[in-house]
Amino acid sequence: MPYFDWNATAPLHPLAREAWLEASETAWANPSTAYRSGVRARSRLDEAREEMAQMLGFRPEQVVFTSGATEANNAVIREIARVSPEKEIWISSVEHPSIREAALGLAGQSRARRIPVDANGQVDLDWFEDQLQISAPGLVSVMAANNETGVIQPWPQIRGLCREAGIPFHCDAVQWIGKYAAPMGQGCAAISLSGHKFGGPKGIGCLILGEEWTGLKVQTGGAQEMGSRAGTENIPSILGMVAALKARLNSPLPAEQLNARDTFEAALEAEWGGEFCIHGKKADRLWNTSFISLPSHRANRWIAQLDRFDMEISSGSACSSSKSGPSSILEVMGVEEEAAARTVRISSGWETSCADWNELLEAIKQVRLVLDSEPASSGP
Ligand code: PLP
Repeated sequence: MPYFDWNATAPLHPLAREAWLEASETAWANPSTAYRSGVRARSRLDEAREEMAQMLGFRPEQVVFTSGATEANNAVIREIARVSPEKEIWISSVEHPSIREAALGLAGQSRARRIPVDANGQVDLDWFEDQLQISAPGLVSVMAANNETGVIQPWPQIRGLCREAGIPFHCDAVQWIGKYAAPMGQGCAAISLSGHKFGGPKGIGCLILGEEWTGLKVQTGGAQEMGSRAGTENIPSILGMVAALKARLNSPLPAEQLNARDTFEAALEAEWGGEFCIHGKKADRLWNTSFISLPSHRANRWIAQLDRFDMEISSGSACSSSKSGPSSILEVMGVEEEAAARTVRISSGWETSCADWNELLEAIKQVRLVLDSEPASSGP
């Protein structure tokens, strides 16, 4: 069944499964113990940290394993609210709820400032530069790429401006890492990532810390993770995540797979013209993501019907899907409520073939016929 919700989560990569199973049998001991099986588990953990650091272009001491990106994001916001309680926290207005809610909760409405985005959902760099002349926040947090629109943010420029101004910069790189091979480079105070977005197990991720932040405490208690995160390390999941990232970085996708989303969108545009809208179209976007308003009918009706055709797509962030109403991201992009209510997110992955995209295209056309033929009372 073609699966098109890879930004919500990816299937476990076969090599990640293999690494997880193997580590569950051979490295299950507590790595903080002094007997041989514990020492062996510790050396597997150390190797995994080295490999992760090397793949991402950091030093092992910078890599703190966490239970995922939500924990990493929360920890960064909590840390800044602790060390600079009087300062503002600036986040982009399209951040994931794990940043947004943490910032609002810890800094409050008055000190959690939202950096505006343009109609394509990209951070307004002019606004940012102007505001930096006037005030200095305690932290700036801008994601590498948005989980709903797929829009890639100008995070290297923001990181540069923050560096010049001596302001710590955090980047939620969850949707970027594993889709691109280029290393992010030094200069961020902190970077968050999540294993299950690139084929690792769920419930595992990393917080990469810059020089000045290596003392950050994600959780207090024992001295695990170089004193940064208390709690017994989940070695099988860590090894699974490392194997998944390695698999991704070692097998670049062919151009036709990278271009399949554009071909799909162009076909829908040709079919439906102005009835159809691609959000973030004019910005750089992740190669796998299409956040589109389909014609005439509400997103939930499209999604339910497409499911009957064995096509799995979503209306946006899985973390917001229990909330009613259209995506808050579309709201800040200035998209009208009616078009926002017709918006679906389609996101592919390394297993998605061009044939899958074609099947989805045909299914969408079929579903429109079905929806259009339904009684008006069940219309949008
Ligand atoms: N940040 C972004 C951009 C995400 O897309 C997600 C997951 O949807 C998260 C953070 C949270 O990641 P995790 O599931 O590892 O807590």
